[in-house]
Amino acid sequence: MKIAAVAFAALVFAGFSGIGGPALAKPKPMMPVPKPVPALTPEAQAAILRDDALQSNVAYQWVSDITTRFGARPAGSAKERAAGEWAASRLKAMGFDTAVVESFPYHAWVRGANDSIEVTGPFPQKLVGVALGGSTAGDVEAEAAVFESWQTFLDSTIDVTGKIVVIIQPMARSTAGEGYGAMSGAIRWAGPQAAQKRGAVGFVLRSLSTDDHRFPHAGATNWSDGKGIPAMAISAPDAEQLGRIAAMQRKGEAGPVRLHMVSGAVFPPLGTSVNVVAEIKGSEHPEQVVVIGGHLDSWDLGTGAIDDGAGHAIAIAAAKAILDHGLRPKRTIRVVLWGSEEMSQPDGFGSGGFNYARAHASEAGNMVAAMEADFGADKVITASLPATADTAYGKTMNRLLTPLGIAVKREPSTEGDSDTDVLHDLGVPCLTLNQDGYDYFNTHHTPDDVLDRIHPENLNQVVAAWSATLWMVADSDISFTRPEPTKAEK
Ligand SMILES: [Zn+2]
Repeated sequence: MKIAAVAFAALVFAGFSGIGGPALAKPKPMMPVPKPVPALTPEAQAAILRDDALQSNVAYQWVSDITTRFGARPAGSAKERAAGEWAASRLKAMGFDTAVVESFPYHAWVRGANDSIEVTGPFPQKLVGVALGGSTAGDVEAEAAVFESWQTFLDSTIDVTGKIVVIIQPMARSTAGEGYGAMSGAIRWAGPQAAQKRGAVGFVLRSLSTDDHRFPHAGATNWSDGKGIPAMAISAPDAEQLGRIAAMQRKGEAGPVRLHMVSGAVFPPLGTSVNVVAEIKGSEHPEQVVVIGGHLDSWDLGTGAIDDGAGHAIAIAAAKAILDHGLRPKRTIRVVLWGSEEMSQPDGFGSGGFNYARAHASEAGNMVAAMEADFGADKVITASLPATADTAYGKTMNRLLTPLGIAVKREPSTEGDSDTDVLHDLGVPCLTLNQDGYDYFNTHHTPDDVLDRIHPENLNQVVAAWSATLWMVADSDISFTRPEPTKAEK
């Protein structure tokens, strides 16, 4: 409990408010009279929150708890719901004023027990691969058309009717993850349907990853409703292997590449998913809300520690730091654990972020800022402030974040992340603390997304940055208004 600073200031004020009273009437000449200590400024308080968070393991402990108790938390699953109900009761026990589970209709997709993919010719051997979320089940054996890149596939006019389209393009590595952004929407999301339109009977991509381990990386493709073609991701070394066999085929050294792929995925009837919403009510403007969070669900292969146990734990820990200091901000802090971020949905249905924004759209005008963490557990390296943040605010954030090794970017934040983008479209300004994603895609969506991948000291640095940033918005009258038109206005 770190209420000492404020309590001390209050005591000092109380003790010396009665100037002229008996205790102070005759100060000893050699004893200097202490001056009243002013209450901490928001910036000074934010600095204390920041420094104390560096020593706290609240986020790490949360990730440890949730991944140990529930393991994987697939979108729309019973595990996700159980984790959500546990989280709500845990948040109440931690001192949040309210913590509720909000359900929404959701189409789950469940991986079959025996995903498999193998080369049946010219050199028969097993590969390591998994079905893409939302893809259609099937059991196909066919000649493969192997493409070095997505663009090669788009440019090619070869007939892929009755074949399995394989894209073996590697993903570029960067701290901001641009490679993933560029490829997930094109190859993984649109690939299976594009191949199906050209008559293909299966689709395989090299996992969107930056590692060379033999893990497949799961991920969502466009919702197929069971009417598409089986679509799978194979590990990077398996993609390299297929590339070598295809090269031998092109040189006439080997016969055509043939693949056999099996997915027993099922599309259960319409069910539900959950968002968890917990609040610290504001003391002066409870109707003004700062929304912070990460997602609750995870892929099924690992335990969802870096994606996104760490992210939602960062938001919880930043708010918990404020509770632990005995503080109450002027504005309401709302922590949201969004459900079902990872999977695709048919039209009219959507992620937890989409459903949260829809359910709370009438409050959007009172949401002063939104912050989301969904990029692993490594350190924050830059901060992106809303475009209308004034110079004084920028200077304050520089003073608060520079000691953590964080640079405040000149370019403003222009969008939300996966669960806050819908809020951004409703006009809610987004603040972004950009984490180092250089290693994020080594284990993202793999069986290796486990607690062991998290370095507590890195996670604490993120929470420190979040605590300070959160306090500066929540205990202030700062208003960020959006200069650019929203999508609805365009
Ligand atoms: Zn995520």
